[in-house]
Amino acid sequence: MHAPFDLTMEEEGEIVAGEDGDGGLSNLFERNKVWAERKTRSDPSFFRRLVGQQTPRYFWIGCSDSRVPATEIVDLDPGEMFVHRNVANLASASDLSFSAALQFAVDVLQVRHVIVVGHYGCGGISAAISGRANGKIGCWLNPVRKLCCSLSHSSSNDVLDPNILCELNVVAQVEALVLNPTIGAAWARQADLTLHGWVYGIGDGLLRSVCDPVTPLGRSEAVSSPKAQTNDSALF
Ligand SMILES: [Zn+2]
Repeated sequence: MHAPFDLTMEEEGEIVAGEDGDGGLSNLFERNKVWAERKTRSDPSFFRRLVGQQTPRYFWIGCSDSRVPATEIVDLDPGEMFVHRNVANLASASDLSFSAALQFAVDVLQVRHVIVVGHYGCGGISAAISGRANGKIGCWLNPVRKLCCSLSHSSSNDVLDPNILCELNVVAQVEALVLNPTIGAAWARQADLTLHGWVYGIGDGLLRSVCDPVTPLGRSEAVSSPKAQTNDSALF
């Protein structure tokens, strides 16, 4: 979500019409048509191939933030990555939508990599720190708020750095995945499945790994603490 993040407003806002009178919706159809034609020109069988199957190797669990479009920032085509996004990229086993997507990705699509991707400047993280979020979003961000409070109590710093909480939230989601029954069952049947925790920098467009990849062999080891946010940690 975008920062700043004012969640004290009414839940439902007005739909503001754009200059073309429909909020720019017709423009989306035009852009879609141009995109589909461009794809077909560069690869005439592109869409026909996708009709019959999808065989993605990756399951991306990312934030809903419009600045972090999953497939675009890793330069993948449709069909190459299965995606689930929510505010602050949570991987909660109690979230039915997420759990269903994870089950489909692991059991049916048999992805090889499950990747939690946070991003610096996350409005959801900022809202959790500020404690300003209310309503459903406040409820949704409660796990992040709890993580924030636990860190504040163990730190001498008065205010937690949002980017540090962003990294630690990613690590917490990877830890949750380690304990997720779907992941456990996959590892029990010796599926080739690795968990990853990354953070995306909106300011430079780069992904960074914030914890070591977790495999069935490495699951007994604790997920490592976040690496320092440095340019050296940019892996991609
Ligand atoms: Zn976000």
